[in-house]
Amino acid sequence: MVYILSTAVAEISRVEKLISSWDANSQTSDINKHAGIAPVKVDAELFNLIERAISISKLTDGAFDISYASMDKIWKFDGSMTVMPSETAITASVEKVGYQKVVLDKKNSTVFLQVKGMKIGFGAIGKGYAADKAKALLISKGVSSGIINASGDMNTWGKQASGDDWKVAITNPMNKNKVFALLPITNGAVVTSGNYEKYVNFNGKRYTHIIDPRTGYPSTGIISVTVFAPKAELADALATSVFVMGKEAGLDRINQIPQIECIIIDDKGNIEKSTNIEIDKI
Ligand code: ADP
Ligand code: MG
Repeated sequence: MVYILSTAVAEISRVEKLISSWDANSQTSDINKHAGIAPVKVDAELFNLIERAISISKLTDGAFDISYASMDKIWKFDGSMTVMPSETAITASVEKVGYQKVVLDKKNSTVFLQVKGMKIGFGAIGKGYAADKAKALLISKGVSSGIINASGDMNTWGKQASGDDWKVAITNPMNKNKVFALLPITNGAVVTSGNYEKYVNFNGKRYTHIIDPRTGYPSTGIISVTVFAPKAELADALATSVFVMGKEAGLDRINQIPQIECIIIDDKGNIEKSTNIEIDKI
């Protein structure tokens, strides 16, 4: 058992090494270093992850974008910012962002960022992907049920030893001690995105830590998004996307995707859910 767990941990480290942008020797860093210069040949695994990330960009009209990473950090959410950045600065901050400028060549397995200074990063999808890989590895070793908890992102398969479904507790970040729903997860993942503490107020509006890569403006109105999906990778990415898209557009899109559900808590403490979640029954 211990041996099996250590192989899962090793698998997560392996994925981290492939996709991390802070490791100067990773293939991801290599892609970033060659932005505007030349395509970079990468492992099929990384190529496929980038290809899936771009599909998610298309699915979310660009709300999700791994090239968010080149954004200038003009917003600070630690209380140190006293004036709102100018519109010019905000527009300029996202100039190099755009998944449309990520060129994929499947035949040669290369990735090319067209503009110098462009960067990609997997902050909103990597943890989910790593959890999916760890799960797949454990299943391949014959582990018939389990739950992986990657800092609050849950990935499950099978059932609890008692025969019951795995359940996830949903809390309201405005009232942390109070669980308002306990939902069963059957062979799937649940990811919550949200940092209740990271925001800044200007003109009576609360701007929260996830920035819209299309406009450079931080998202407003939402403090937490929980997404249910068969795979942690998609749940992870969509949680961030719904933040950016906002309550209405976000829910509307989630309701169009089969097998995906979400719960949104807005900055007034209201709870909204996608059409097929039945919180009341629990
Ligand atoms: P958290 O875990 O902090 O609640 P998320 O899971 O939503 O947040 O991930 C936020 C991270 O995703 C950011 O730190 C950044 O690395 C990355 N990110 C931010 N905005 C976007 C975006 N629009 N598209 C893709 N990735 C993003
Ligand atoms: Mg995320």
